[in-house]
Amino acid sequence: STAKLVEKDTRSSVTFKDVAGLKEAKVEVMEVVDFLKNPETYTKLGAKIPKGVMLVGPPGTGKTLIAKAVAGEAQVPFFSMSGSEFVEMFVGVGASRVRDLFKRAKEKTPSIIFIDEIDAVGRSRGKGGAFQTNDERESTLNQLLTELDGFGANTGVIVLAATNRPDVLDKALLRPGRFDRHIYLELPTKEEREEIFKVHLRPLKLAKDVDTLALAKLSPGFSGADIANICNEAALIAARKKEKLVHQHDFMEARDRIVGGMERKSKIISPKE
Ligand code: ATP
Repeated sequence: STAKLVEKDTRSSVTFKDVAGLKEAKVEVMEVVDFLKNPETYTKLGAKIPKGVMLVGPPGTGKTLIAKAVAGEAQVPFFSMSGSEFVEMFVGVGASRVRDLFKRAKEKTPSIIFIDEIDAVGRSRGKGGAFQTNDERESTLNQLLTELDGFGANTGVIVLAATNRPDVLDKALLRPGRFDRHIYLELPTKEEREEIFKVHLRPLKLAKDVDTLALAKLSPGFSGADIANICNEAALIAARKKEKLVHQHDFMEARDRIVGGMERKSKIISPKE
């Protein structure tokens, strides 16, 4: 069914040990895990548990990963949808999908709703979006606001949303009681890149010459997603050469290929910007 295209209800097997670096973000989302696991601790004192948390950061920095880790750590169901998927929808469908998503999450409390690329739906009204009529996007956004306001704090549903364009978001989304908490994710430092390499080297059969510090030094500006990409590409390169293990030179080749890809992409994109 089309519902499956935009929504998933899965138990997440991702945990914090899959998330390298992002120390501060992890501390902040751990609080969300605690809200889900021990709500009484807060409600007993009369506290209102936040409903919406916005994860803000450049592409590939682990926003989706950390949202899944929250669900995995709290062991609650994870319902997700991507704002950009509404771009292809017929009028009225976006709003009913949002309604359905919240309904299903409320039936399975405690639970997490994750909305990726919320800026695709939550762009400031009147600013227009690429492929979609304003009406459709607005009705989807309005439904989202209605849903956020429609359930009380302490219902056991926490909505995480992700964006790399916080500047274009409609202010209505950021009001108290909606997405009023923000967690920032940054591109990784050299030390964090080494940690991310280590996570993604776990499943690979490595030669002794693999040097994670050297790899971290040679990948400035890379995101976690870029690093995950290098590691898999290196394994593919080694396999193609019929090597028994993945060597440092495979990583170097993979890195060069990915840098080449990034340069081509920025050449294509930059004239338009
Ligand atoms: P986008 O904005 O493009 O949707 P995102 O911030 O949601 O990106 P993710 O989808 O979470 O990024 O990251 C893509 C992949 O990159 C992850 O599945 C993971 O393999 C890897 N990755 C990103 N950040 C980290 C990290 N901090 N630790 C380990 N792996 C990471």
